[in-house]
Amino acid sequence: MRKFDGFDFMMTDSLLSEEEKLVRDTVRAFCEEEAMPKFMEHYEKGTFPTELIEPMAKLGIFGATINGYGCAGVNNVSYGLMMQELERCDSGLRSFASVQSGLVMYPLLMFGSDAQKDHWLPKMQKGEALGCFGLTEPDYGSNPGGMITTAVDDGDSYVLNGTKMWITNGVMADVAIIWAKVDDVVHGFLVEAGTPGYEARSVTHKLSMRASDTAELILNDCRIPKSNLMPGVSGLSSALKCLTQARYGIAWGVLGAAMDCLHEALEYSKDRVQFSKPIGGYQLTQQKLADMCTELTLGQLLCMQLGRLKDDDRMTFAQVSMAKRNNVRKALEIARKARGILGANGISGEYHSMRHMCNLETVETYEGTYEIHTLVLGAELTGIPAYDN
Ligand SMILES: Cc1cc2nc3c(=O)[nH]c(=O)nc-3n(C[C@H](O)[C@H](O)[C@H](O)COP(=O)(O)OP(=O)(O)OC[C@H]3O[C@@H](n4cnc5c(N)ncnc54)[C@H](O)[C@@H]3O)c2cc1C
Repeated sequence: MRKFDGFDFMMTDSLLSEEEKLVRDTVRAFCEEEAMPKFMEHYEKGTFPTELIEPMAKLGIFGATINGYGCAGVNNVSYGLMMQELERCDSGLRSFASVQSGLVMYPLLMFGSDAQKDHWLPKMQKGEALGCFGLTEPDYGSNPGGMITTAVDDGDSYVLNGTKMWITNGVMADVAIIWAKVDDVVHGFLVEAGTPGYEARSVTHKLSMRASDTAELILNDCRIPKSNLMPGVSGLSSALKCLTQARYGIAWGVLGAAMDCLHEALEYSKDRVQFSKPIGGYQLTQQKLADMCTELTLGQLLCMQLGRLKDDDRMTFAQVSMAKRNNVRKALEIARKARGILGANGISGEYHSMRHMCNLETVETYEGTYEIHTLVLGAELTGIPAYDN
């Protein structure tokens, strides 16, 4: 297959600085040389490639946009390009980095005490400590405000009870950010692995995100020191701000999965001969390829503007909802079309499109489902929320 050299139909490279291109190309080279060759095996086994954590840390991927604590301090467009390249390998690899950066290091930076930041952020940047973000519960996903996990004030500690479900990096994590209610108000707590009453169990039998660590977190009279409360949290909105960070990374990330699928399908269509000529020479295939390339290009332009707005501190959560919702749906459609163009080979692990397609089913659900982002946009446009909090 011809080497991947990017899809840039609208010459969006001209919108990138030299530094942004260097960041992208460096992460791309790492993924092609070290990550991609081993991912299918991990996907089949249902394991996460922990050996990639240290090299990712050395590339400055964790907490990349943070200034200080040893972090790279790159801009948000560079961060988005990092997510794109990681997800060109696998959504599980991007999810790992998204959670560590957007859902653990970001809340620590925004809402943590100085002692919490000084203790965790440098280790997390180096990949020496891993974190997870426990918001979803078995009965509360789209509506996290209904959560039933509680923290009870007891002298110099809090005692936590409840269950968190579908938590990325949960088994590997050295610390979990647990969102729990104290007297009906949501707060964020740091629960360290090994604390009595805290257990992380692997979620098995997944048909999507197989190379990602997904866990159920059980809190059973789990006692933590009061100093483990994140003091800057002000209710559920603080948790939702973290999700805006992570969704920004998703909007960019899925472009990578879509690029990999389009590249694979395009190259295959030029080689695979049926009837008298390559299948890429037939109009029906060309229509699919034209649609795939167009949607990818629109997604690239959307992310580029979103990133510039974020770097300018003007990005809104509704804009992120639009980008997450549309880019994931379009990436999923691209993956499905690619799988079809590959025919029977498309279901083989020798090719990547079906793995991307299965992963993207999760990406469409997590961090706000397609439907929930539709309602966010509906509320933004009309001023009338269609859901109750
Ligand atoms: C692999 C994986 C990793 C994850 N990682 C994390 C993590 O690290 N941390 C974390 O906290 N969570 C995580 N999640 C959980 C994820 O965020 C939730 O699954 C998601 O928010 C949806 O919640 P739910 O699954 O309970 O679906 P539900 O909320 O039960 O929704 C089911 C369906 O109903 C629809 N629906 C719900 N409400 C409405 C409405 N008002 N109108 C119309 N339709 C509606 C939804 O769109 C969906 O189609 C992860 C999930 C997966 C699969």
